[in-house]
Amino acid sequence: MATDKETLKCLIIGSGPAGYTAAVYAARANMDPVLYTGPEPGGQLMITTDVENYPGYPDGIMGPQMMEDFRKQAERFGTDVRYEKITKVDLSGPVHKAWTESGEEILAHSVIISTGASAKWLGLESEKRLTNKGVSACAVCDGFFFRGKEVAVVGGGDTAAEEALYLSKLCPTVHLLVRRDEMRASKIMQERVLKTENIKVHWHTETEEILGDEEVSGMRVVNNQTQERTEIPISGFFVAIGHKPNTDIFKDWLDMDGTGYLITKPKSTKTNIEGVFASGDAQDNVYRQAVTAAGTGCMAALDAERYLTEAGII
Ligand SMILES: Cc1cc2nc3c(=O)[nH]c(=O)nc-3n(C[C@H](O)[C@H](O)[C@H](O)COP(=O)(O)OP(=O)(O)OC[C@H]3O[C@@H](n4cnc5c(N)ncnc54)[C@H](O)[C@@H]3O)c2cc1C
Repeated sequence: MATDKETLKCLIIGSGPAGYTAAVYAARANMDPVLYTGPEPGGQLMITTDVENYPGYPDGIMGPQMMEDFRKQAERFGTDVRYEKITKVDLSGPVHKAWTESGEEILAHSVIISTGASAKWLGLESEKRLTNKGVSACAVCDGFFFRGKEVAVVGGGDTAAEEALYLSKLCPTVHLLVRRDEMRASKIMQERVLKTENIKVHWHTETEEILGDEEVSGMRVVNNQTQERTEIPISGFFVAIGHKPNTDIFKDWLDMDGTGYLITKPKSTKTNIEGVFASGDAQDNVYRQAVTAAGTGCMAALDAERYLTEAGII
C-alpha cells in the first residue's frame, strides 16, 4: 500500500539525543522522518558544557556542539527538522494526529516520542547563576569533575540516595541535605546511605544559598527546626529532587507511571498504542544519559520501521 501523500510515515517529537538518533535511523530506512524540535532545540545538553562520557569523543565535547553534530547527521540523510512545538495529539489512530503551536495539523502513520524530561530545581538565584560552575543535577554526568572534593546532594528520595552513593565513591565527604527527619527513599537505599561513612546526612536541613562568585565554594543551610544557619565549604552542589518528564500532552492516550514517565513494553519502545513509540528520558527514569537516550531512539526507529513494514506502509 502506498502511503498517502498527506500522511507522514514517521513523526518524531523532540530533538535531544533520542529524537535525533531516531531520525538518523528512520531517514536511512526511507521513512522520510519529520522531526519537531520543540521548545529546546537540541534538548538538555544545550545547557551543559563538557560532555566527557559520550563514546566517540575521546577529548570530550561541549554539549551544544554535540547536539549540532547530531542534528547535522540527521539532516544529512534527509530528516526534515521543523522548529516548532507539538501542543496536542490524537492517537485514536490508525492514522495519528498532532498539532503544532501555530495550529498546523500533522497526520502520521507512526510517531516516535522523545520529549525528554526536565530536572527539578530548588529555584534559588545562586543555583541558576552557578549551574555548570559547580551546580549540577546529574552525579553520573558531572561527579568526575569533583573527585577528591567535598560535595553536597539535596533531596530525600531514591534519586538523592543514588546520587549520594555514587559521589561517595569519588569524594571524601558527601553532605546529604534532607528537609525532614527521614528520607522518602526505599528502605534499602536508606540503609545503604546510612551505612556509608563518608555520607553525612543533615536532617531538617534546607539550602538558603549556594555560595561562590565564579564557581561554587560553599553553601549556607538552615535547620528548619532550630533556624540555625551554617556555612559549609563545598565544591559541588547536586540537586536531586526529581525530574519531570515532558509528557503532559500524551496523558489522555498513553500509559504512564505516577510521575508521567511513558510506559513501554519490555524489550521494546512500543507504547500501549499501535504505531506510537517512546524513547529517551521521557520513558527512562533509571539511566537518564545521552547514550541511553540515543540507544532507545535507535530502538524506536527500528520498532517503527518494523511496524510500518508489517502495516504495508513502507
Ligand atoms: C545540565 C545537564 C548536564 C548533563 N550532562 C550529561 C552528560 O555529561 N552525559 C550524559 O550522558 N548525559 C548528560 N545529561 C543528561 C542528558 O542530557 C539526557 O539524558 C538526554 O539529553 C536525554 O535525551 P532525550 O533525547 O531523551 O531528551 P532531551 O535532551 O530532554 O530533549 C527533549 C527534547 O524534546 C523536545 N520537546 C519537549 N516537549 C516537546 C513538545 N511538546 N513538542 C516538541 N518537542 C518537545 C525538547 O525541545 C527537546 O528538544 C545532562 C543533563 C543536564 C540537564
